[in-house]
Amino acid sequence: MSLIQEVIAKTKEKDPAQPEFHQAVKEVLETLQPTVDQHPEFVKAKIYERIVEPDRVIMFRIPWIDDDGEVHVNRGFRVQFNNAIGPYKGGLRFHPSVNLGIIKFLGFEQIFKNSLTTLPMGGGKGGSDFDPKGKTDTEVMKFCYAFMRELYRHIGPDTDVPAGDIGVGGREIGYLYGYYKKIRNEHTGVLTGKGMEYGGSLIRPEATGYGSVYFAAEMLKVRDLDMSGKVALVSGSGNVAQYTVEKLLDLGAKPISLSDSSGAIIDEKGIDRDKLQYVLELKNIRRGRIKEYAEKFDVPYYPDMSVWDVVKKEGLKADLAFPSATQNEINAEHAQALVDNGCIAVSEGANMPSTLDAVKIYQDNKLMYGPAKAANAGGVATSGLEMSQNSLRLSWTREEVDEKLHGIMRNIHKASLDAAEAYGDPGNYLMGANIAGFLKVAKAMLAYGVV
Ligand code: NDP
Repeated sequence: MSLIQEVIAKTKEKDPAQPEFHQAVKEVLETLQPTVDQHPEFVKAKIYERIVEPDRVIMFRIPWIDDDGEVHVNRGFRVQFNNAIGPYKGGLRFHPSVNLGIIKFLGFEQIFKNSLTTLPMGGGKGGSDFDPKGKTDTEVMKFCYAFMRELYRHIGPDTDVPAGDIGVGGREIGYLYGYYKKIRNEHTGVLTGKGMEYGGSLIRPEATGYGSVYFAAEMLKVRDLDMSGKVALVSGSGNVAQYTVEKLLDLGAKPISLSDSSGAIIDEKGIDRDKLQYVLELKNIRRGRIKEYAEKFDVPYYPDMSVWDVVKKEGLKADLAFPSATQNEINAEHAQALVDNGCIAVSEGANMPSTLDAVKIYQDNKLMYGPAKAANAGGVATSGLEMSQNSLRLSWTREEVDEKLHGIMRNIHKASLDAAEAYGDPGNYLMGANIAGFLKVAKAMLAYGVV
């Protein structure tokens, strides 16, 4: 058995109940084989065995009291995976599906993503199985306070800097940061995604979605194509999906879908700026369901179906796909349906939204495939820019941040292509992104010795 296959097998054996983590490890390690062949020093120092083991896993109890006085107990996590190139950095996810395996997959991916941005950030991730849906603002506040009551002792601007993810947006970051500031008595860059009034960066809310569209535009450019007039499928209707739609409109494409965990809408006339404004209000202020979009604009709603289920069922034609909801939302059958219906590029806004079999179908059919750790790195890159602004105690303009974000996405695209070429599989963005991200971290780990 090869070294890589041995490491994958041992990872499964050690933690058999963490399928998402196994999937992420397999996806990354199998593309790293050329580095094993070219870097015996990594093999000798057991870098491959070490990189799949988190520096530290923190798991804690979060007791809190709802508006009716009832006590609830949730579970909190922070996985500090690797700080070889900078403080741990990665979001917090609040969703009932959260467990240790999911946080480990996200933290593992984050190592390579953060390295790819070229900013000095290590990899980490955290969250809770708390479900913010249906909770009042007061309940969300009380939960965030209870969560931070434990997390505060593990984080710091030079140690670990969390941000948002599913279920953690501006409101939650405000509560989390407010409580941290209160108990530590310090105003510091310990979280990113903060509000503009208290240390946030312009363009941070938009960055993941914008970045994923910038990445797609770069992939198209390689084939002398552009976004203009392209029909685009977007899934989810949260932070990433919303700003993916906005940037698609900026670049002249036509987004036609959105979804949430209850169902999907298809709007073949296109989601225009007015309709997007409605979605922002619906999701961020009223916290309603995407079904209401269908009622308001008289378009089809598909209950209990994802955008990709609809593509498969209805044979929906589209040029581009931007999965922006959650992991494993596109399986092999969905991927085949995308191919059969004319899709030429997939840019992953969500983390690991495509199963390994789906990725194989993209690659076999020569789709332009922007893997999550490259395509959605704009979010964490802009978090890195927020950290820089906090340290410098100044704020850059919207244009400055957007220009930096755009530059970072171009560089990530180029670094991925260059690494794919250098390691023998030109055009393979998945392999290129993994290798480019890995090399910097591996070299730093090597420099430190065995520690
Ligand atoms: P939000 O919570 O703002 O939105 C998530 C959206 O996806 C919602 O529409 C939600 O529907 C839907 N969704 C979540 N879980 C499921 C599920 N199991 N099945 C179907 N739909 C689901 O999160 P974000 O937009 O921030 O995150 C979306 C994805 O992007 C995640 O994979 C995240 O890790 C990734 N990402 C986010 C970054 C960021 O900066 N925010 C950075 C990089 C990656 P509902 O409201 O019904 O739950």
